[in-house]
Amino acid sequence: MYPVRDEITKLLAELPSGVKLVAVSKYHPAEYIAEAYEVGQRIFGESHVQELRAKVEVLPKDIEWHFIGHLQTNKVKYIAPFVSLIESVDSERLITEINKQAFKCGRTIGILLELHIAKEESKSGFSLDECTALLDSDVKNRYPNVRICGLMMMGSNTDDEAQLESEFKQASDYFNTLKSRYFHDDDSFAERSWGMSGDYPIAIRQHSTLIRIGTKIFGPRIY
Ligand SMILES: *Cc1c(COP(=O)(O)O)cnc(C)c1O
Repeated sequence: MYPVRDEITKLLAELPSGVKLVAVSKYHPAEYIAEAYEVGQRIFGESHVQELRAKVEVLPKDIEWHFIGHLQTNKVKYIAPFVSLIESVDSERLITEINKQAFKCGRTIGILLELHIAKEESKSGFSLDECTALLDSDVKNRYPNVRICGLMMMGSNTDDEAQLESEFKQASDYFNTLKSRYFHDDDSFAERSWGMSGDYPIAIRQHSTLIRIGTKIFGPRIY
């Protein structure tokens, strides 16, 4: 078994205050999550609805589950009763559905707006213009069972540190713009989710508050 406990303990020790770890456990068995839980980890990220539901059944109830993958609107209902934060919100259709399902459960669900800043076409998310247009349309007040808690993005899949740094900086600067323009009186707009196993030190330099780490904690994923 991969040394999950050692890896996560090392990682937690090196995180500056104000940065929270999302342990990305997709494709890893529930036993690995339980190991991380035992050393104090409580936030886990998953990207597939079926897999997440199976894990929720067998794991402790005080885990905060973050959904980080592409979410189809017809699947929102399966995670709405328990999910803590949906990080990968990339359309208003999805916001509408999250609001509807959250209302049915008597909950308010936190979301992050996913930005598309990386070079790759394959990545999803709002362009900065689309995101600004959405906020200009008063999205904040039109969905009472949704709380917009911040922004999420994935850096390009590259070793070019200058490139990654400039992408994270763009996200961070944009967060500040949105904060002052739309959320200056709203403390819940606070999260900046960027940084993965390969690039999280750079993301932290660019004011990330949530880093999403899989491989470094749990080892390679077996598909
Ligand atoms: C899988 C995944 C991660 C974790 O990636 P690692 O390189 O294994 O740390 C982070 N964010 C998202 C959105 C992912 O899908």
